[in-house]
Amino acid sequence: MSGFSEKDKQKLEQLEIAVKGARDSFLGYPVSKDFDYSEILNFLQYPINNLGDPFEDCTYKVQTHELEREVVAFFAKLFRANPKDYWGYVTNGGSESNLYGLYLAREMYPKGMVYYSESTHYSVKKNLHLLNIPSIVIRSTENGEMDYEDFENTVKMNRHKPVIVLSTFGTTMKEAKDDVGRIKSILKNLAIHDHYIHVDGALSGSYGAFMNPKPAFDFKDGIDSISISGHKFIGSPMPCGVIVAKKSIRDRISNGIAYIGSLDTTITGSRNGHGPLFLWYAIKKMGVDGLKARYEKSLETARYCEQRLQEIGVNAWRNPNSITVVMPKTPNSVKNKWQLATEGDISHIICMPNVSKAQIDEFIEDLTMADQNEEEEYAFDF
Ligand SMILES: *Cc1c(COP(=O)(O)O)cnc(C)c1O
Repeated sequence: MSGFSEKDKQKLEQLEIAVKGARDSFLGYPVSKDFDYSEILNFLQYPINNLGDPFEDCTYKVQTHELEREVVAFFAKLFRANPKDYWGYVTNGGSESNLYGLYLAREMYPKGMVYYSESTHYSVKKNLHLLNIPSIVIRSTENGEMDYEDFENTVKMNRHKPVIVLSTFGTTMKEAKDDVGRIKSILKNLAIHDHYIHVDGALSGSYGAFMNPKPAFDFKDGIDSISISGHKFIGSPMPCGVIVAKKSIRDRISNGIAYIGSLDTTITGSRNGHGPLFLWYAIKKMGVDGLKARYEKSLETARYCEQRLQEIGVNAWRNPNSITVVMPKTPNSVKNKWQLATEGDISHIICMPNVSKAQIDEFIEDLTMADQNEEEEYAFDF
């Protein structure tokens, strides 16, 4: 007798209702939900596993390595990597991609010191702990960007050590972008030859190439590796991410493993092979132009949101090129309904491609009503 009862079936139905309802009312997290992967859903029938290095042959053939290489190539090009010197793979998300970048940096400079700003994503501290690399936190300025003066002074005091910079391109709360150009010129002025720059572009990396003027954040600007999350701006049913690095650096850590007939260059052994398939499908459907249009739509919604908030007297602002609108903390009723991430005294709305002006209007209405109800609890100004 099957253990799957009528009650279990109801549980699944209720779960779907809850997940669907939650999906339809959030504005606070950087997750796109406007995807349609129905054309490739039949691939869920196969035990796909991208075991091993996507650029090497592998004895396990139920895999999507070829598409994975195309995904890596797509982003390598977007990030202006040297076509003869790039490598990468599709990870479980931005956190693993950052772990990988830092791993490469440590292998290159085992005596290096990592510098990252206080606005850096929370997972980086844990990654540094796992890798056991010494690190120093740099102050960030009011807009969330690295304080370059503090960076310069701190590096100066430790100039005998190789410098590893974890630079963020789109911080979690304010979508601030650290300027790789300024970081490089500081290193040059201090005559630091041994350095490695990893860019955490989890959210903004996917559309940084379309910004105008384009900030310094890619390989031509002097970075060594960059990570993005695939389930954020592009959108995917399961979390995934991409790491792109210089092949010449990766070659330092490749070990051949006879059992899988491949190189053990990735963090995990078995790897999600559906993630690369979904990402490949998405970038093929969108193309570079579609991805750009997606960014422009988000930017337009963000401008609209910022303006509407200012019209009702809310002190809202955005970093340049940013699709994140920062505002003072909203009342709890609004925060809960729209699942707004809040940190300290600020909240934000991230205008992902699926966010519509109608939703912004509804949010503004909720905020106006809540403000009347909770006047004393809520301050418009910082
Ligand atoms: C989301 C995010 C991460 C972590 O990425 P995951 O894909 O959730 O693992 C890292 N850094 C920044 C800036 C992020 O926004």
